[in-house]
Amino acid sequence: MLDRFERYPLTFGPTPIERLDRLSKHLGGAVELYAKRDDCNSGLAFGGNKIRKLEYIVPDAIASNADTLVTIGGVQSNHTRQVAAVAAKLGMKCRLVQESWVPFEDAVYDRVGNILMSRVMGAEIELVDEGFDIGIRESWERALEDVKAKGGKPYAIPAGASVHKFGGLGYVGFAEEVRAQEQELGIGFDYIIVCTVTGSTHAGMLVGFAKDGRADRVIGIDASGTPAQTRAQVMDIARNTAELVELGRDITDDDLVLLEDYAYPAYGVPSAETNDAIRLAARTEGLMTDPVYEGKSMQGMIDLVRTGYFPAGSKILYAHLGGVPAINGYSYIYRNG
Ligand SMILES: *Cc1c(COP(=O)(O)O)cnc(C)c1O
Repeated sequence: MLDRFERYPLTFGPTPIERLDRLSKHLGGAVELYAKRDDCNSGLAFGGNKIRKLEYIVPDAIASNADTLVTIGGVQSNHTRQVAAVAAKLGMKCRLVQESWVPFEDAVYDRVGNILMSRVMGAEIELVDEGFDIGIRESWERALEDVKAKGGKPYAIPAGASVHKFGGLGYVGFAEEVRAQEQELGIGFDYIIVCTVTGSTHAGMLVGFAKDGRADRVIGIDASGTPAQTRAQVMDIARNTAELVELGRDITDDDLVLLEDYAYPAYGVPSAETNDAIRLAARTEGLMTDPVYEGKSMQGMIDLVRTGYFPAGSKILYAHLGGVPAINGYSYIYRNG
């Protein structure tokens, strides 16, 4: 589906699929859980899902003759850290706007994890006191203007590398990769679990799995806490991406499954149940997840298994999208494990 699009390699290649036998057994053994390890996809500053998306955006940035990648996220954004790593790898400058998206106080929140790495990688960071919003932000537009005013040539990457003409392509590629691995392994997945916030990960999967009739088997777990906006953004990106790759059919509202029950109490703030899920995956599988994203999709998957959402015998693929560095910003919660 992607042959016509240029890809700049930033990842190691197809990511491994791992069986989660002990977690499956712990949850009763009626379904088989697997994880696709996009958290281990690259050597660029711990990798993650934004690197997979950026492989299809970087050729456009290079072609534009830009010298500075400009993007935006929260203080502990994984996305901005991945853009900083890619800029360093390409020999470009990086300008990051980091907003106060998360109502969470930890003594080291703005010092460790993602933001620490972005600083070490030489990104210019501006901390802005604005709340959570997955849309296009004024602070980001101001940063673009500022780079220009100082004689630079910025390349604009929106939050999460999502609302970009090529933002959905990386996760179309994920679906193609899963199909090839299913052939190799001789199995087929009945469901794919994905954490959804700015939307292009889920949107790309919708388009990629629509090709074999599995769009509605992609179970999005909302972690934004603003699901109406996230839903609309996923649909927009999915429709644009379907057209771009010439899928040959429209993506409809029925294709989109976005479960809203696990984002509480707020974006970036874990509930007691999120923390239980993080500990359970860690203690049964050595599988680390973070309190902002993957801990919530892990919580969702565990709850759905426990409440019988999946028929017995289902094979379920948990897309691990990265994000573990952010857990350092939550040191107080996990001070006793
Ligand atoms: C960005 C991110 C997500 C959400 O992906 P979107 O494409 O923004 O919906 C999920 N998990 C992790 C670890 C992320 O960094």
